Amino acid sequence: MAWSLLFVAVLVLSVAGWLAGPPAWAAWRRSRLTATPFPSAWRALLRRRMPLYRRLPALQQRQLQRHVQVLLGQVPFIGCQGQVITDEVRVLVAAQAALLLLGRPAGSFRGLRQVLVYPGAFVVDRPVSDGGIVQDARRVLVGESWQQGQLILSWADVLAGAADPDDGRNVVIHEFAHQLDQENGAANGAPFLGRRAGHDRWAATLGAAFEALREQLARGEPTLIDPYGASDPAEFFAVLSELFFERPAALAVQNPALYAELSAYYRCDPRAW
Ligand SMILES: [Zn+2]
Repeated sequence: MAWSLLFVAVLVLSVAGWLAGPPAWAAWRRSRLTATPFPSAWRALLRRRMPLYRRLPALQQRQLQRHVQVLLGQVPFIGCQGQVITDEVRVLVAAQAALLLLGRPAGSFRGLRQVLVYPGAFVVDRPVSDGGIVQDARRVLVGESWQQGQLILSWADVLAGAADPDDGRNVVIHEFAHQLDQENGAANGAPFLGRRAGHDRWAATLGAAFEALREQLARGEPTLIDPYGASDPAEFFAVLSELFFERPAALAVQNPALYAELSAYYRCDPRAW
């Protein structure tokens, strides 16, 4: 009797959640996934492997923990080329990704379906188009993000990115920034920004900074922003996100308007950490 009542209760809740629409359903799932305490072993792991976690104020540490629980409850991890998926792998990836969500209690990465992890850099054979000519190309990558919801990472580089929070390089932040960008269509350097005015200001500020970077590189000058960001607007947004979380003060001094745009988008100010 008790079981059938439980079954009916779950059915009613499920139908109610479905009728209430995606936001209510998502909120219910989030609250269910964060109902259990954050494992102390995971906290110890973050303190040991992710110096930036240690710096976060207590409130943001708790927010990050909740995002980790939700991400790990929703997204499967798959090991490739012999990589074993341990709690260390899952938690360290999810915690760095969660930095991008600290200003968003409702979470994000809506399009993410699975995370594939290789032991180190991986080889990709894929035709590339250059000026209309399609050629076979072999590339060695440390991370990749697909619009279909796959995100691929090198574990060696995930560890290295977490170990140094001040070098402006972080493959997890880079690839998850692409996921945000890909939530509203192909990656183009413009994630979902809400109203039109916000989109216009973003395009003007980032567009000007992108052109400035290309001109600096053409003159052979050293740049704060990774030259890889000059490839296209999507890569520009991804490398800027790395810089925003790992060298916020330097970015804010060099380009206050650019920093303000990123700070408004990510709804946080990493200079305070
Ligand atoms: Zn990229």
